[in-house]
Amino acid sequence: MSSSVALRLPSIDGLLRHPACLPLAERYGRESLLTCLRQLLDELRTDVLNGQLAAIEISPEVLAGRVGERLSMQARSNVRRVFNLTGTVLHTNLGRALLPDEAIEAVQMAARYPLNLEFDLASGKRGDRDDLIEGLIRELTGAEAVTVVNNNAAAVLLTLNSLGARKEGIISRGELIEIGGAFRIPDIMARAGVRLHEVGTTNRTHAKDYEAAISPRSGLIMRVHASNYSIEGFTARVPTDELAELAHRNGLPLLEDLGSGSLLDLTRWGLPAEPTVRQALLDGADIVTFSGDKLLGGPQAGLIVGRKELIAKIKKNPLKRALRVDKLTLAALEAVLGLYRDPDRLAERLPSLRLLTRPQTEIFAQALRLQPLLAEVLGETWSVSAVQALGMIGSGSQPVARLPSAALCMRPQVSKRLRGRCLLNLEAALRALPIPVLGRIDDDALWLDLRQLDDEPAWLAQLGRLKT
Ligand SMILES: *Cc1c(COP(=O)(O)O)cnc(C)c1O
Repeated sequence: MSSSVALRLPSIDGLLRHPACLPLAERYGRESLLTCLRQLLDELRTDVLNGQLAAIEISPEVLAGRVGERLSMQARSNVRRVFNLTGTVLHTNLGRALLPDEAIEAVQMAARYPLNLEFDLASGKRGDRDDLIEGLIRELTGAEAVTVVNNNAAAVLLTLNSLGARKEGIISRGELIEIGGAFRIPDIMARAGVRLHEVGTTNRTHAKDYEAAISPRSGLIMRVHASNYSIEGFTARVPTDELAELAHRNGLPLLEDLGSGSLLDLTRWGLPAEPTVRQALLDGADIVTFSGDKLLGGPQAGLIVGRKELIAKIKKNPLKRALRVDKLTLAALEAVLGLYRDPDRLAERLPSLRLLTRPQTEIFAQALRLQPLLAEVLGETWSVSAVQALGMIGSGSQPVARLPSAALCMRPQVSKRLRGRCLLNLEAALRALPIPVLGRIDDDALWLDLRQLDDEPAWLAQLGRLKT
């Protein structure tokens, strides 16, 4: 029986020479084609033997078609562009900030050519990669010195380990937070070799709480931006300037993990206030850490800024070598920081700020424009409407603040029992598009928040594929 099956399938050699397969060999290479053909023929033989497939004749054209599909799937990158229509602008799972053209060009240059990464062109001697951005950081934040690492989690780990190992780190109970992806302040402290000394309560911590905790075992005082939650109601928190004064009176450094942090006051663009790095330093924080790809709008990085002698100590830690950033990150970061020199044009030039400040009226007009097109594609089963919606900044900035936005809201016109399934099917269909479209399901509807839809032509071009 197996021989009769084999007879009905074309030979590998024949297939490789077949005109339908030649373009595939050309495109993907003979080796890949051969491997894929063998796999497919083996699978077909097994299917026939198991009786799952009638032993019918399969033409070389059909086989070439199937192999072509497989090869094209294989060749497709795993890193895929998507449309982030979730309503969360700085979405950690979707890559956070989008880089401005200036940064993209800098990354290309750094990728393509040798560069002065650790080479001082003036003296001809070995340089330090942090020097490439130190001038800009000092100018933009007022800090004395800077060092850059892989992300803010690394910045916190490295700072704690450099300044507080084998000593106690004093921190308010209200700031012992967990940020997504298993980043918990107590765990990071432990890994950094710092003994946690928590003070106060979840909602209220006073200066006298910190004062009472200070002993010869103390190494530092730490303050952490609550980021992804907010404490409201009966609360008390020691202002940074007061806490800095208390720390310095006792010969301790004050570290402030700002999380997102911002280089400029965002209220000038009508966004919710977020603490600025400059203000934290003015208030007396000795070291401030923050992310490169949150509100800053740059590449993934962790910035450690502050007093010169402390930064020098941090840079000497062998962990710094393990956590340092590469040339591509530094190139992008410098270009992004450069844009902050001209705050008047920042909202036009920095994509994350441009998206965060898009006016609701403009987004709503876009929703009204796209609504009939989507309605027509989805047909009778769905009611599609252009509605006002509330988005978020994301990445731990202003967890309770909402960004007034607009969305396309799709409600299935089916019995309550079928609604859930219907929504999941549409969500999956959107995800299966060549450029997957990601929205959110809420209140028995699928929402596409349009704040971040600036490539409308690409979105429209694939819409027809949703037609069933
Ligand atoms: C986001 C955040 C971090 C982690 O920063 P990454 O750049 O994501 O590593 C640490 N601390 C706070 C307070 C944060 O908000």
